[in-house]
Amino acid sequence: MTDATPPAEQAAAHFATRLTHISRAGKHSHGFVNPPVSRGSTVLYPDMAGRAEAGKHRLEQHLIYGVMGGPTQWALEDMVAEIEGGTHCQLVCSGLAAVTTPLLAYLKAGDHMLMPDSVYGPGRNFATGHLARNGIETTFYDPCIDAAGLEKLFRPNTAVLYTESPGSHTFEVQDVPALAEVAHAHGAKVLMDNTWGIHFFQPFTKGVDCSIQALTKYVGGHSDVLLGGVTVASEEDWEIVRGTALALGQFAAPDDCWLALRGGRSLQVRLAAQEKAGIAVAEWLRARPEVKEVLHPALPGAPGHDLWKRDFSGACSLFGVVFRPEFPREAVWRFAEALELFGIGASWGGFESLVLPTGGFVTRTAGSGDFGGELVRLHVGLEAVEDIVADLEHGLAVLRAAG
Ligand SMILES: *Cc1c(COP(=O)(O)O)cnc(C)c1O
Repeated sequence: MTDATPPAEQAAAHFATRLTHISRAGKHSHGFVNPPVSRGSTVLYPDMAGRAEAGKHRLEQHLIYGVMGGPTQWALEDMVAEIEGGTHCQLVCSGLAAVTTPLLAYLKAGDHMLMPDSVYGPGRNFATGHLARNGIETTFYDPCIDAAGLEKLFRPNTAVLYTESPGSHTFEVQDVPALAEVAHAHGAKVLMDNTWGIHFFQPFTKGVDCSIQALTKYVGGHSDVLLGGVTVASEEDWEIVRGTALALGQFAAPDDCWLALRGGRSLQVRLAAQEKAGIAVAEWLRARPEVKEVLHPALPGAPGHDLWKRDFSGACSLFGVVFRPEFPREAVWRFAEALELFGIGASWGGFESLVLPTGGFVTRTAGSGDFGGELVRLHVGLEAVEDIVADLEHGLAVLRAAG
């Protein structure tokens, strides 16, 4: 590590050390390594002057009233801001709330938003439902659009460019720096759902103004907590995001924050192990005759690989598999049901492997997402790779028999 080492690389290099030492216990821990869980609604003040003074610190980590956060939330906020490379993090009750809260913060009636066709489904529904009803119009764009193409979609009232890279279910990698440049030239803010790219994509060095994390995924890491984080890197953006979160009564429970903090301590080793296992399983699947294509940006030659290589320092263990067109949806469902180590279910980022056939469940309106075969999303957990491969081998035999 020298002075010439790029900042992103320096930041990545000591990630494990930073995760184990940030947000440790303060002076009230009586020597325990970890901060205690601080639960509470009412905060008592010695006098009215103290109470009046506290109200001026709503944008800070300052004990005012429980819903505005306390020491356990602050510990996790600091950890998430550190992971994302931002200055402030607002915790919210779920990953979906981390999508909707900044949309409500940055958009008002009469505004227009650009959203990628591959956006997380409930985010799309929020735009076409709640936001549309409240006078905010959304144009869905091809996630692989280039700067020139995006330029044509901007209107005088476009206030937000929303990005998610790689995209949900289909893993398109976006040219975020180039798209952000166009957005900023038009005075629009750039929001990004960076859940897949946790740690591996540093949003604020790539033109993003507000980064969204479903902490439910790898930070929680154990499939037992729902939580979201909205991180920014400027005071201007913090006022916008924090103000709206307070207005909405957004809150993350201290016990959940404590679980996420606990998950975060081992984030680096889990990500490293799952990245390696995910790539090994993806390579194995790519060589199989039943498989048309594997949508894993870290595989050389896979869609989006060049942009991934330029902008990401690694990959998580969530990817897509496209089966050859001779295998119908029913056969793919039998494949998923035949797997024993992979549970059928939503979410990801936990310690366990998951499978989710997505054909028929994904909405696209800008022409993206058709890969000419049935699509399955796999999350590779912490099981041994040889056991995962043996399970998939059995599943593929069932697929062939059913196809
Ligand atoms: C899961 C997910 C969310 C939502 O997180 P929840 O905590 O389940 O609400 C948001 N964005 C992406 C990309 C996700 O995968």
